[in-house]
Amino acid sequence: MKYDALPATDPEVFDILSGEATRESEGLELIPSENYASQAVLEALGTLMTNKYSEGTPGRRYYGGQTYTDQIESLAIERAKALFGCDHANVQPLSGAAANLVVFSSWLEIGDTVLAMDLSHGGHLTHGAPVTFAAKAYNFIRYKMKDVATGAIDYDDLEALALEHRPKIILAGFSAYPRELDYGRFARIAEKVGAMAMADMAHIAGLIAGKVLANPFDHGFHVMTTTTHKSLRGPRGAMVLSQGKVGNPLRAPGKTLENLPTLIDRAVFPGLQGGPHMNKIMAIAVALREAATPQFADYSRQILRNAKVLAETLMERGCQLITNGTDNHLMLIDTMGSFGKTGKEMQERLEAVGITLNKNAIPDDPLPPFKASGVRLGTPALTSRGLLEPHMERIAAWIAQVGKGEGDPDAIRREVRDLCLAHPIPSGPVERGN
Ligand SMILES: *Cc1c(COP(=O)(O)O)cnc(C)c1O
Repeated sequence: MKYDALPATDPEVFDILSGEATRESEGLELIPSENYASQAVLEALGTLMTNKYSEGTPGRRYYGGQTYTDQIESLAIERAKALFGCDHANVQPLSGAAANLVVFSSWLEIGDTVLAMDLSHGGHLTHGAPVTFAAKAYNFIRYKMKDVATGAIDYDDLEALALEHRPKIILAGFSAYPRELDYGRFARIAEKVGAMAMADMAHIAGLIAGKVLANPFDHGFHVMTTTTHKSLRGPRGAMVLSQGKVGNPLRAPGKTLENLPTLIDRAVFPGLQGGPHMNKIMAIAVALREAATPQFADYSRQILRNAKVLAETLMERGCQLITNGTDNHLMLIDTMGSFGKTGKEMQERLEAVGITLNKNAIPDDPLPPFKASGVRLGTPALTSRGLLEPHMERIAAWIAQVGKGEGDPDAIRREVRDLCLAHPIPSGPVERGN
């Protein structure tokens, strides 16, 4: 992309931007929550829509001058509803963490109970990790995998926990779980105890949009939160989607499915946020249009194919994978078990050869999170730059070499850069305009 004013107004900032562009262009991005937004998304993000205040929802704003903010937000909402098959969408949450807090605060009273996946078994920090505000406000009960070798969730145990603790929300979703969930079973357990069935699809929204993974709304879920910047490939942002048509007599006092859309909208504003970021909402609208195309469906299918080959090749080359494979876009290597190296050490050694991924706890990890016994990696960003199965085999070989301390790091770094330069990132380089 070309920049005209920025290099002249602020050369210091332009240099930093150029540095990041080179880093993204010349390195392999394996962090499974990251991706490359298209040039169209970046253009929509960098507009004068950032100038406008628009507290409220389309047609019900606090300030005047809302002709075009109403148009763009309505468009984003309609596209989100069509893409994910639901009745209501709020596209204003500033991030995935905010979106989860929106749902909790819309449906729960302080002290109410939520049943959610344990952090070290793949759940997310925002699902009530002790360090979060949500954990101070609500009571989180944890479920885990029954069998770490396969990743199977113990649904009987989940049901027993639900019957014992009577949660108001049962939360399905993860940021480090490589398997598919049985949403129908989740929804039936929620129905049995009168809980809201909530899915946090931050990582896999693009794969649901591309129809290569199950959509929780097809299996009786009421609410879904998602970020927009991970596999969905939009700007940093989030959405709360809800479905009121499912006939489940929820038992949260004073709260019904009919008024759930209003509860969610009010939890966003004035409950938790001020003015929405309209430039970001404009970029979300563009990303949602891209995600509804046949090319995006092909892209999401390729993410899964690439992940399968990456996982298989890593295992052939001596990497122990948590759950022994993957059904989605991500996987976890037990680096202590495979190479006697902490996740932190692996992350640093790989970064030195131009491969970025992140250290990650493995189930019931004995090491603290800043060291961790594993790393997490995935294929959405690699697939966005057009890399295919044979490239995954090469990448797995580099990772195994680095793990075993074999090969010349400088040579690997050069090979990584050559591969990257042959497959440019979608928005192209950052360049000075005229
Ligand atoms: C990434 C993620 C979030 C948080 O999103 P932010 O935009 O970083 O706040 C929440 N839930 C899950 C499952 C995630 O993977």
